[in-house]
Amino acid sequence: MTAPALDNEQDRLKVQNSSQTRRNGVPSPRLHLRVCENSSVKKLAILGSTGSIGNSTLSVCESFPDRYQVVALAAGSNIDAAYAQCLRWHPKVISVATEQLAATLKTRLKTAGITNIEILNGTAGTIHVATLPEVNFVVSAIVGVAGLEATYAAVCAEKTIGLANKECLVAAGELIIAAAKKHNVDLLPIDSEHNAVHQCMRGGTPQEVKQVWLTASGGPFRNTPIADFDRITPQQALKHPTWVMGQRITIDSATMMNKGFEVIEACRLFSLPPAQVRVTIHPQSTVHSLVEFIDGSILAQISVTDMRLPILYALAYPERVPVTEKDALTFDLATLSQLDFSQPDLTRFPCLRLAYEAAETGGRTPIALNAADEIAVAAFLARDIPFLGIPRTIEAVLQRTSGQPPASISEVLEADLAAREDAREVIASQTTGVRK
Ligand code: NAD
Ligand code: MG
Repeated sequence: MTAPALDNEQDRLKVQNSSQTRRNGVPSPRLHLRVCENSSVKKLAILGSTGSIGNSTLSVCESFPDRYQVVALAAGSNIDAAYAQCLRWHPKVISVATEQLAATLKTRLKTAGITNIEILNGTAGTIHVATLPEVNFVVSAIVGVAGLEATYAAVCAEKTIGLANKECLVAAGELIIAAAKKHNVDLLPIDSEHNAVHQCMRGGTPQEVKQVWLTASGGPFRNTPIADFDRITPQQALKHPTWVMGQRITIDSATMMNKGFEVIEACRLFSLPPAQVRVTIHPQSTVHSLVEFIDGSILAQISVTDMRLPILYALAYPERVPVTEKDALTFDLATLSQLDFSQPDLTRFPCLRLAYEAAETGGRTPIALNAADEIAVAAFLARDIPFLGIPRTIEAVLQRTSGQPPASISEVLEADLAAREDAREVIASQTTGVRK
């Protein structure tokens, strides 16, 4: 491996010195006592740069140019957005989904007089971006297992990770956490609930944690009677009450599978059994999550509903960066009139039950949970199955799945492909498809 840049080396030494305090690659609460002497610019690779999290990350870089430098980008198929990002950020390297898209981007950039950006494609290109020697912080924000290999490679290349891609942890959490531990890598959660838990965990030791409460908005169908669920259209499901996000996570929020994935994500990140990760419906999405300690104290994290805040926390950790009202990240307590919390209804939201079951069973079931969900969500969006066809498909696939744990990332990907195939078969055999 190429020698790391000096500032990265300093970061690593600092992290190694405190490695005895970490748990499963996640910095332990005591790490905040570290004094951060290194305030040099962090050099970023953003995987999924054209998506919702990718754009929010670039917006943070825009606000703090003296702290964060964009070095490399990986995008999918949105070539117009990739082109615009090249013009604005001038990365050293960009990777896009296919060879053809890479050729198109190259031609367009050449016409604009830019010939010094390396343009790559496919998984190999994304891995290259994630492991560039000059990069010291990788934002993992590709959606789905498409981001898994690059995220794993970044961990093995000893990059600090800002992790938005929850599907990576659902499918391959044990392998990623083990690699993070081995390579002394910080996995800093960007998902707002886990980011909130990470912040609250700084208030006690891991042994002092009784349980974690993940908040859920309840999605657009929080109060919809179950009798109406099969009439839900993709258009209705794509309207999230509090967050604007990519399509997959928006549908996952409507079925509450997103919260199910987050339960598994929290188990992996914070070394907790599923029974210690609870879900509470909190429609205001103001409390982003809570940690309950053994002495009865509950710490909650409150902030604006804006993903730039958890992104900035992860990028800055273990420091905190001052923001002003101009950044629109400050929270006006005077606006806080009511905070509601209630139990989720597992009958109306069977995806959450399936996720808890998969978390308990482990092995290949979380892989199948994610893969089957991705296929079922796409089928729902294509109007091939109704809304409740999503949990029905996933449950049928889980019944075919072994609890045998995968031994490698390639076994994860094999299990993922097998579950996708199963999901397609289940969907094809369903007779309840809705008309297009
Ligand atoms: P999105 O759909 O808006 O963006 C996904 C990004 O991944 C895009 O840049 C797309 O081009 C890229 N991509 C997709 N397939 C790819 C491939 N095969 N190779 C390379 N790039 C590919 O999604 P999002 O909402 O930004 O979510 C990204 C991840 O962050 C997801 O795992 C999601 O669960 C998680 N997350 C998102 C939010 C949010 O507020 N959006 C919050 C918490 C967690
Ligand atoms: Mg979340």
